[in-house]
Amino acid sequence: MAVTIKSAKEIELMREAGRRLEMVHDEMGSMIKPGISTMEINEYGDRLIRKLGCEPNFLNYGGFPASICVSVNEEVVHGIPRRDHILKEGDIVSLDAGLIYKGYHSDAARTHTVGKVSEEVQRLLDATKQSFFEGIKKAKPGNHLYDISNAVADYIEGFGYGIVEELVGHGIGTSLHEDPQVPNFRQKKKGMKLLPGMTLAVEPMINLGTWEVVWLKDQWTVVTKDHKPSAHYENTILITDGEPEILTLHI
Ligand code: MG
Repeated sequence: MAVTIKSAKEIELMREAGRRLEMVHDEMGSMIKPGISTMEINEYGDRLIRKLGCEPNFLNYGGFPASICVSVNEEVVHGIPRRDHILKEGDIVSLDAGLIYKGYHSDAARTHTVGKVSEEVQRLLDATKQSFFEGIKKAKPGNHLYDISNAVADYIEGFGYGIVEELVGHGIGTSLHEDPQVPNFRQKKKGMKLLPGMTLAVEPMINLGTWEVVWLKDQWTVVTKDHKPSAHYENTILITDGEPEILTLHI
């Protein structure tokens, strides 16, 4: 699939898709506490998306059975919500959500703490989030796609964390996954030139230990090979003439 450049009208729709997803994330984030199940988070998120006049884009995507990916501790991404998976004090939980507004997709992920977590785990979460911001500092015209990847890698390598390589960010628009792929690990090539009107989901997945991951037998859940925790942080961004615009986060 070719890389798409969005028109002004399309950008307006993507902004709206992004704003609505941010609301969903804010609401889901405020319900996180020990004792709730990962299924409750999914059901709440699904209801919010529909209440905002949107459709969940993850539900049935390639057969995924839920609207929100809920990944706990060593689960990296694509965790399947379960009624018998109850969050407990000290867990971390990554919520990856996406929606479709008038045919346009948004995609974002946040990792939350459940009660109090260890300093080591809090540092992982903070670094993962910051690596997104380090990456998008390079997301402007005149730069190349892999400047983003290398900026994430530069930042994370300083901590000695593992960067997931088997899953990457992506273009996004009228489809959830469009070209180009946006890796978070070091690249030798430069990649394509960044142009205004490109919309990308930038999503570092960072492991406390090894970068290696494995798939569980459910064929969806990706976990760290060493079972150490993993964090995920993602926003949909727009390349502009100047600084990138974050469509799924308004500070
Ligand atoms: Mg994504």
